[in-house]
Amino acid sequence: MGRLVVVSNRIADPRKPAAGGLAVALGEALQTTGGLWFGWSGRIVEDGAPGEGDLHTLQAGKVTLATVDLSREDYDAYYTGYSNGVLWPVFHYRLDLADFERNYIPGYRRVNQLFARRLVPLLQPDDIIWVHDYHLIPLAAELRSAGCANRIGFFLHIPLPPPPIMAALPQHEWLVRSLFAYDVVGFQSETDLGHFTAYAQNEVSAKAVDRHRFSAFGRNVHAQAFPIGIDVAEFERLGRSREARASYATMREQYAQRRLLIGVDRLDYSKGIPQRILAFRELLSNYPENRRSATLIQIASPSRESVDAYSDIRRQLERLCGALNGDFGDLDWMPVRYIHRMVSRRRLPGLYRAASVGVITPLRDGMNLVAKEYVVSQAASDPGVLVLSRFTGAAEQLEEALLVNPYDLHGTAEAMQQALTMPLAERRDRHNALLERIRKYDVHYWCSSFLQALDKSFPPGVRQRGQARRTRRPADPGPPAPAEPRR
Ligand code: UDP
Repeated sequence: MGRLVVVSNRIADPRKPAAGGLAVALGEALQTTGGLWFGWSGRIVEDGAPGEGDLHTLQAGKVTLATVDLSREDYDAYYTGYSNGVLWPVFHYRLDLADFERNYIPGYRRVNQLFARRLVPLLQPDDIIWVHDYHLIPLAAELRSAGCANRIGFFLHIPLPPPPIMAALPQHEWLVRSLFAYDVVGFQSETDLGHFTAYAQNEVSAKAVDRHRFSAFGRNVHAQAFPIGIDVAEFERLGRSREARASYATMREQYAQRRLLIGVDRLDYSKGIPQRILAFRELLSNYPENRRSATLIQIASPSRESVDAYSDIRRQLERLCGALNGDFGDLDWMPVRYIHRMVSRRRLPGLYRAASVGVITPLRDGMNLVAKEYVVSQAASDPGVLVLSRFTGAAEQLEEALLVNPYDLHGTAEAMQQALTMPLAERRDRHNALLERIRKYDVHYWCSSFLQALDKSFPPGVRQRGQARRTRRPADPGPPAPAEPRR
């Protein structure tokens, strides 16, 4: 296999321990072959020219970290605007929250072109390129127009909606055409893959060459589900750390007489946190034995606060938690502890372990790694129970969890009660089965299975049709231009 080049919006220095499972896994893959990690530097140049940005490089062991600055105008349109104001809500099935009115698309395209322009001179002919996530869907098409004939793979970390929702995006055809510039396109779940297949066959008349290979726009693309995992060994190590043990001890001491339920999420409307609070309220109403006994700890770490939909959900949550504590709380018992702060990864295993129930109930989630972290953190002799939304990618793998429909508050409250009262033998059986699967399909498995598929996507020396080595493909005409505003 050639040198690996990873491209993502943000990059992490794989040598730093706070990097997290994904960064560690990608860093390891990069270290094996020696490689390049390319992305945005995190720096915004207030008066920078649109479409321009300096390149910085840094050597981290065998890995070169290459980053590009963004001008304020590009950042606002590409990151806050199109990526997080349009693609994120639509791909999470929330057309109502998508900001279609403002014309962010030229900025989104401009940054992908800037990335391609800065990346091409750093590439070697046999490099294998792996592009990550919705910020960079058109990157391969831009690289192809610049003559790049390398193998290029793409992994979508968030869900792909069904065709009727996708089709509401004014640029849907362009985005899907852009996916056909890759050799391998990976999704989190079979559900997402099914949506891609349905779209490709019905909307752009792609031909199915075999179960995973589709042909359209003069190219073949291999599409497959590669559910992402966590770094189990790293998380178990974190669980033995001083911080994790200290937070476990504190929680056990403070809540000695109580049963804990825990939710850990970025504060995002896709996570179903208000519905979770309402379901917990229903639990307290329907099963009064839980009053003064069960406590829900909800950690909601701040996220994308400059986007309006995020401040709305924050206010809604504060209202719901305040009302629940006011209506049900007592001098010595607060039903819900809502914490709007980031909790360090080192403390999380201790919190997870102290909780009898992990309540992970997103309305829609590509995978959800917290669900896997919760299971791994449990004591095998006396494990807690996972209540998991059926609308997460994780639900396809974690079928021994109590799967719920998060819109059904009554059903979710029933599952919470079932979890709180589940006999030890059943808890152990479910935990064993979950743990085994999480261990087997960890982040290293994910990384190597994607890279193997990319390596095999077409034999070296055999180029895809219309993709002669180092010849430029015609420039991508881009998405349809929006109509001029009426006077
Ligand atoms: N996380 C964290 N501190 C927090 C909240 C979350 O370290 O206060 C971590 C969590 O351990 C997990 C990741 O952030 O690894 C969240 O990943 P997930 O797939 O659950 O959701 P995402 O935020 O990617 O939508």
